[in-house]
Amino acid sequence: MNSPDLLVVGSGFFGLTIAEQAAAAGLRVTVIERRSHVGGNAYSEPEPSTGIEVHRYGAHLFHTSNEKVWAYANRFTAFTPYVHRVYTTHNGEVFPLPINLGTINQFFRAAHSPASARDLIAELASEFDAATAQSLEEKGVALIGRPLYEAFIAGYTAKQWQTPASELPASVISRLPVRYTYDNRYFNDTHEGLPVDGYTAWLERMADHPNIEVRLDTDFFDESQPLNKRAVVGQLPIVYTGPLDRYFEFEAGPLSWRTLDFEQEVLPVGDFQGTPVMNFADLDVPYTRIHEFRHFHPEREWYPDDRTVIVREYSRFADQGDEPYYPVNTPTDRQRLLAYRELTEAEKGVVFGGRLGTYQYLDMHMAIGAALSTWENKLRLSTN
Ligand code: FAD
Ligand code: UDP
Repeated sequence: MNSPDLLVVGSGFFGLTIAEQAAAAGLRVTVIERRSHVGGNAYSEPEPSTGIEVHRYGAHLFHTSNEKVWAYANRFTAFTPYVHRVYTTHNGEVFPLPINLGTINQFFRAAHSPASARDLIAELASEFDAATAQSLEEKGVALIGRPLYEAFIAGYTAKQWQTPASELPASVISRLPVRYTYDNRYFNDTHEGLPVDGYTAWLERMADHPNIEVRLDTDFFDESQPLNKRAVVGQLPIVYTGPLDRYFEFEAGPLSWRTLDFEQEVLPVGDFQGTPVMNFADLDVPYTRIHEFRHFHPEREWYPDDRTVIVREYSRFADQGDEPYYPVNTPTDRQRLLAYRELTEAEKGVVFGGRLGTYQYLDMHMAIGAALSTWENKLRLSTN
């Protein structure tokens, strides 16, 4: 077999960024991908009867304040001026997210100024200190006070994580900003937008290099394919972006993941909910949110005006065989992760990267940024 200079396992943003950088530096790279398409969880495709672009593994919004990542992404795609905004339904009423002055005033039926809203929340939030909060519950209550926490966070988080909020890390909720203005932009980043021709076109352009060979439907652990783990570890440099615990055959115990179920429907109406994402805060609605994909691309005039695609999202613990989407990160997981980190250090010639390979929450820009630094700091010299 004519073996490549570098093997990349997984074609998500982490794997493709490494592959692209290595190929540009003159290395011959093979990317193997278990699925029948490239792109990892950012993959999207048109719903066949409407042409509306649907993100197959959940809605993906690109945003970053990292100039290097923004410049890099713009080499492969232009971005629309899309700005993400989310609403939530609670007790039959729609509120704006993230929690902002509009949410606070609507919830308390009041007309607080920024200063009086701060005073109110400080009073309601005195139960815990945000700086020392240990869990998602403590942090949530410390940031917004018990009443808003119970209305907008407790039920949604219970549906999303099926783990008591007192056992979830505070960091999960730190991603959600709280604002004392009426600004309801979901993200705080400098740059935001959606790829003009869709995610798949962007991802395919990253892989489109004469030095890159992509093998789809190819599992690293399948010993009937030549570039399998047993055959190649120690023989050539490898970047592995699949699940960390699976690599080590669950030696330190399984790491827990959350998976999502998506229920897609084409409806005979031009507009179902008037916005891309509606969250459902209450426990009596079994799904966490509904995505209506046409609203991600208002500029696409060719979308039909009499049909729309919606996707209801349900969250649950992943069983074996389910797609692992989000690390749950309980105290047990964190202990096991330490054991896996020791194992990765002893695994010479293999770099573990990406959301699954490092068992951490990574947005797309973080995966790209981490891959650029991994290439620069760890791989470039060692593969030359
Ligand atoms: P992945 O995209 O998961 O790619 C890993 C690849 O490895 C997969 O294609 C997988 O099939 C492959 N693989 C695994 N095991 C094997 C094996 N044994 N052999 C061969 N191939 C294998 N990011 C944002 O910036 N904004 C968002 O709004 C956003 N929303 C998200 C919503 C959901 C539901 C999810 C799950 C993620 C979201 N992300 C979002 C993150 C986004 O998916 C990034 O692409 C991801 O975090 C980083 O990519 P990655 O390469 O690390 O992993
Ligand atoms: N969250 C919530 N209510 C909401 C939105 C978010 O309680 O309406 C909490 C929930 O715990 C979630 C976290 O905030 O896991 C992060 O939200 P985000 O929208 O970033 O979740 P993701 O898009 O990653 O699923």
